Amino acid sequence: MKFVYDARCEDHVQWPGHPERPERVKAIVERLAAEAPRRKFLAPTAATKRDLMRVHDEAFVERLRQAKEGPLDADTFIHKGTYALALLAAGAALTGAREVVKGPEEVFALTRPPGHHAGADFAGGFCYFNNAAVAADFLSREEGLAPVAVVDFDVHHGNGTQAIFQKRRDIVYLSTHQWGIFPGTGAADEVGKGPGRGRTVNVPLPAGSGDRTFEVAWERIFLPVLEEARPQAVVVSLGLDAHYEDPLAGLSLSSPAYIEMCRKVAEFARKRARAKALFVLEGGYNLTALGETVAGLAATLEGRPAKTGLNTVADASGVGAKAVEEAAAVQRAHWALNA
Ligand SMILES: [Zn+2]
Repeated sequence: MKFVYDARCEDHVQWPGHPERPERVKAIVERLAAEAPRRKFLAPTAATKRDLMRVHDEAFVERLRQAKEGPLDADTFIHKGTYALALLAAGAALTGAREVVKGPEEVFALTRPPGHHAGADFAGGFCYFNNAAVAADFLSREEGLAPVAVVDFDVHHGNGTQAIFQKRRDIVYLSTHQWGIFPGTGAADEVGKGPGRGRTVNVPLPAGSGDRTFEVAWERIFLPVLEEARPQAVVVSLGLDAHYEDPLAGLSLSSPAYIEMCRKVAEFARKRARAKALFVLEGGYNLTALGETVAGLAATLEGRPAKTGLNTVADASGVGAKAVEEAAAVQRAHWALNA
């Protein structure tokens, strides 16, 4: 697995004590280096304004470029260097997209700031530009890999990604997320609009959902939708805040279950798509969970055993299985899902 990383992403500081902090990526890189000392990291090329305009309005990009220091929302701040660092994050996802097209390995873009709450003309929720959406659009329209699937495992709904792609047929957006928390979107009946109707697949889950619920969601919805959609590239918006150790939210995935979910997506892409899976970092605020899950995923895809310590299975029975079935019932209008 190749990693795209630039240490400058650690210059991005919302304010001291903010959960989206530089140590998040540092913890991942240190763990990767400890487990595989010879691993090389690829340097990203910063995105251009044109790259961002794949999915963002020009006026919005200009607004952020010229923004004075100050808050965008209660959790998201603009500093002097923010625009340049946000270009670097979008560029890391784009560099990752170019790399998965070249092959032969999976690629993980260690993006900071994250992106999935940024829409065509809005920012917020720690996000400025939508890194994963820029990469997905590139893979679809530039590389001819349509349709492209964007699989979002962050505990928060990717409202920005959904808004960007909801009217498009060439992108299938699938998201698991905790229901009833920020940003409030992602109900099962939000299925896309116009030509994109049926191409948005939301699986909102109750607090406590974890290992077993995610297996059910994969078997009942994600895998059959992917098999039917036949995406030629897969981008994973990988937030690690659905982990049971995460301080911000209430889902309960263990590290091994997270790794297994990602392995299944990677295996799908290996078998069925023309490009291997591209992982793009979103949220995740427990440093141990971040480090061991990402390093464990790399080990798994490289054929080594994953070394994890956060292995407690809090959801063995499928706390959210009913919610998965409700989402499946909605999606049956659009996909051949078993009753
Ligand atoms: Zn999140």
